[in-house]
Amino acid sequence: METQPGSLHSIVEKYLPVLGPFEDRYRDIHQHPELGRLEKRTSEIAAYHLRQFGYNTLTNIGGYGVVGILENGVGPTVLLRADMDALPIREQTGLHYASTVEAIDTDGERKPVMHACGHDMHTTSLMGASTLLANAKGKWKGTLICLFQPDEEHGTGAQAMINDDLYGKIPKPNIVLGQHLTNSKTGVVLIRPGSCMASADTFKVTVFGRGAHAAQPQDSIDPILLAASIIVRLQSVVAREIGPEDVASVSCATIHGGKAHNVIPYEVELTLNIRTFDPAVREKVIEAVKRIIKGEAITSGAEKEPKIELLGSFPPTINSTPESLKLRQSFISFFGEERTWEAGRHTASEDFTNLATAIGVPSIFWNFGGVDEEKWKKFEAEKDPKIISGSHQEDYAPVVQPTLRTAIEALSVAALTFLKVD
Ligand SMILES: [Zn+2]
Ligand SMILES: [Zn+2]
Repeated sequence: METQPGSLHSIVEKYLPVLGPFEDRYRDIHQHPELGRLEKRTSEIAAYHLRQFGYNTLTNIGGYGVVGILENGVGPTVLLRADMDALPIREQTGLHYASTVEAIDTDGERKPVMHACGHDMHTTSLMGASTLLANAKGKWKGTLICLFQPDEEHGTGAQAMINDDLYGKIPKPNIVLGQHLTNSKTGVVLIRPGSCMASADTFKVTVFGRGAHAAQPQDSIDPILLAASIIVRLQSVVAREIGPEDVASVSCATIHGGKAHNVIPYEVELTLNIRTFDPAVREKVIEAVKRIIKGEAITSGAEKEPKIELLGSFPPTINSTPESLKLRQSFISFFGEERTWEAGRHTASEDFTNLATAIGVPSIFWNFGGVDEEKWKKFEAEKDPKIISGSHQEDYAPVVQPTLRTAIEALSVAALTFLKVD
């Protein structure tokens, strides 16, 4: 698996495809976003592209998952992953290719749809890298797998592909590689060995009280007051139960209760989102959260115990150390020190790692920046986070270039680092 950085550099430079069509494709996917588990159009675009470039292409794995396999002689097998799904957000970027799409989600509700997490950039850059590496086939040996994953935002797409016998259908990779757009300067890649993203656990909590006329609160056990007490008290978990050296976050992300202005309802539903890096901290936080919910229900005099259901979990993202140090070296030799930054540790989460842990192989997940250079300069000078809008926001608008080019190059450099290059 040894490669010379010099030859790798020249391969990526020489075979970089003409970028115009990929920029158009990026804008097209941005304008036609699809929610998780509904990525039909995007997956068809990816599959069509892979077939054009000679990849043995499999579709509809774990939903709309697509895999392209390029067998190219004896050598290591490398898997590159991109995610395809968008978010239920109404786009407010004002871009000429902004989305106006609305769609019926899998829960039956009509929602606005927007690529507010950069998955459109991930998909397009993997299409670009698959082109580059297919055209450069004479320069490397091994097997390349390009995987387009559905449904990352719900945290279930990678597992759905694995459950659908992904690794019975494709050669087992020696390493799994992926990347995510981030709020840094465009043209920059960011990488760190070891722990880089948090685990996430989402719970649906239903608390039960006793309904009554709003004018007769004495007849009720008010579940809204109960829910409010829970939400306030949950803030003490991170502040009072976790050591200052540990990292955790506990958020109440949704609250639903009541339908009329003059009725105290019977129940209130909350969703809670918990992020941690350390498994022991994770266990402690979850225990404390459950204790508080149950304790507050008792304090309110609730007659029925709250229902606490786990809706989903993301694994922690941990980069295999020797492999990520090697990749960082490749990035430095390709992009230079000034464009290869040390990534921070993020409390955001990803289901990417499942693709590697399912088969016990190393994985690396890195970031690339998408913030316009002028904006970045202003942000560095003024340190005001409002200058650069983050992902999952309605005005999230990464600049197309040199973001897309950097993303295609980073994927190609990474693949060639672990394939066999003479
Ligand atoms: Zn996201
Ligand atoms: Zn994302």
